[in-house]
Amino acid sequence: MIKNIALVAHDSRKEELVSWVKFNAGSLSDCNLFCTGTTGRLIREALTELRGADIPPIVCLLSGPLGGDFEIGAMIAEGKIDMLVFFCDNLIMQGHQNDVMGLTRLASLYNIPFATNRSTADFIISSPLYTSKDYQRIIPSCIESYKNRKLK
Ligand code: PGA
Repeated sequence: MIKNIALVAHDSRKEELVSWVKFNAGSLSDCNLFCTGTTGRLIREALTELRGADIPPIVCLLSGPLGGDFEIGAMIAEGKIDMLVFFCDNLIMQGHQNDVMGLTRLASLYNIPFATNRSTADFIISSPLYTSKDYQRIIPSCIESYKNRKLK
């Protein structure tokens, strides 16, 4: 079941992510939201304006360029995040591009639902699997294989 959702947007796409969150506020209401610092602040402000005190818990981690991407990546690796919506700026390189690549790599590796654009985020949140209590995400076997790899 999707319970813990990570939300990140680069500056040029924060408005787009906030708009998506507002549109989907009902579907997100039973979740815990984990956000990089500035993204989280904007989402909290927008949801509070929309719904008053009736908003989901929002944890604001460090700002992305200051380590927030790593924090979310570590949470994914620890099994604490069920879904990531990460609206990246696709037109400019970030000063913390390595962190961006690390976060997207871990989202892919751990097989969590992962949207980098609004259409994909819409498809995920409207899927019957989004609310399914039975769906079990498969942890790729390569992770266990890697842990048990033979070294001379
Ligand atoms: P921010 O971080 O939400 O603190 O702006 C996002 C990022 O740029 O990675």
